[in-house]
Amino acid sequence: MTVDLDTKSMDMSCLGLEMYSLIGELYPICRSITGNGVRKTLQIIQKHIPLEIHEVPTDTSVFDWTVPKEWNIRDAYIKDETGKKIIDFQESNLHILNYSIPIHKKMPLAQLKEHLFSMPDQPDWIPYRTSYYKETWGFCLPDRILKSLPEGEYEVYIDSSLEPGSLTYGELLLPGETTDEVLLCCHSCHPSLCNDNLSGIALVTFLAKYLSQKPLRYSYRFIFIPGTIGSITWLSLNEHRVSSIKHGLTVSNVGDSGHLTYKKSRRGTAEIDRVVSHVLKNLPQEYTISDFSPYGYDERQFCSPGFNLPVGSLTRTPFGTYPEYHTSADNLDFVQASALVNSFETYLTVIDVLENNHTYLNTNPKCEPQLGKRGLYSTMGGKQTTPEDRMAMLWVLNLSDGGHTLLDIAERSNLNFSTIKNAAFALANSGLLKVCLSSVST
Ligand code: ZN
Repeated sequence: MTVDLDTKSMDMSCLGLEMYSLIGELYPICRSITGNGVRKTLQIIQKHIPLEIHEVPTDTSVFDWTVPKEWNIRDAYIKDETGKKIIDFQESNLHILNYSIPIHKKMPLAQLKEHLFSMPDQPDWIPYRTSYYKETWGFCLPDRILKSLPEGEYEVYIDSSLEPGSLTYGELLLPGETTDEVLLCCHSCHPSLCNDNLSGIALVTFLAKYLSQKPLRYSYRFIFIPGTIGSITWLSLNEHRVSSIKHGLTVSNVGDSGHLTYKKSRRGTAEIDRVVSHVLKNLPQEYTISDFSPYGYDERQFCSPGFNLPVGSLTRTPFGTYPEYHTSADNLDFVQASALVNSFETYLTVIDVLENNHTYLNTNPKCEPQLGKRGLYSTMGGKQTTPEDRMAMLWVLNLSDGGHTLLDIAERSNLNFSTIKNAAFALANSGLLKVCLSSVST
């Protein structure tokens, strides 16, 4: 089976606007690791793809962790002595320490300050803070406002609930020719933050939509889960499935203007590591490739030693390395449709390599076959051949001994995978190559 995934027939500026508009629709929702914000988010994604929504009850044991109580919030504010709201959850959901327990109380400034979080180095931004595993309450606010608060009595009100409920996640499996799977995972737990969280959700949604219309070799599993506890929960409930995962990527921070960054899987030399490295090296733009470290997104759980799955992380600017990260400045102005499109195209190129990375056998291995009499010297796939195409055909014929994949050949010849793939397609169509069956279901 030959798979051709490209964006030639797609209106990419339209796709960029669609991804951006999904981010805009999801932006106001107050999400957390549990609760109605996640459900509402997944329901909106269901308008694009047939996502299955799973609910895992509070107190379910998942390896060394327990599914937490469900958190929901309706309103929160701080009023000064005159009754004026100085902090209002309705203006930004980042104002609330995520997972704050309910409270309605008056208190002096000194006591209130123990529950206020700001960023002195970015006095106009609201920081994003959470307290999932310690029951407390708090507010986040610009340092400029914190510094301006006069002494006095303040009224604190948080209308939230932290009760037994469930953890919600979304999942979609697109079946392919084999049951071997490619896993694409994004986290769905951040509130109004665009690059960290929403850009990944938008890219994975539209990638799933695109791939659902294509015949595929691999099966594709898309999961939308809360960070850390979500992947731990998913792995705990799906341990019997993980041996099917042959390649995987965690998707986040894919909408900023920075360059692409790949963090390798724990294995370091897995096929996904080689594929993404090859794709990035052949892009006409800057990129960074870094080794695995046990910190970051959900690749931490997929790459824990008991699983050691081939799951890397393909982002633009990595988490924690841009000032807007986990602040109110990671907003709709921070992500760009053009960056989302560039990330989408790169993911699609990676998937195209995975889909087509077969091993072939030269059916005419004794000396070079005569390309001219088969019309391959001057034309290939209906197009005029270039010197590069001819070199690609010679490399493919020479290394197709059943022991080299097309990626092996691309790496060794220093040619782009797509050039090697097109040469292999043309040679196979002329009967000079056949696919090794072992490479179809690895
Ligand atoms: Zn984050």
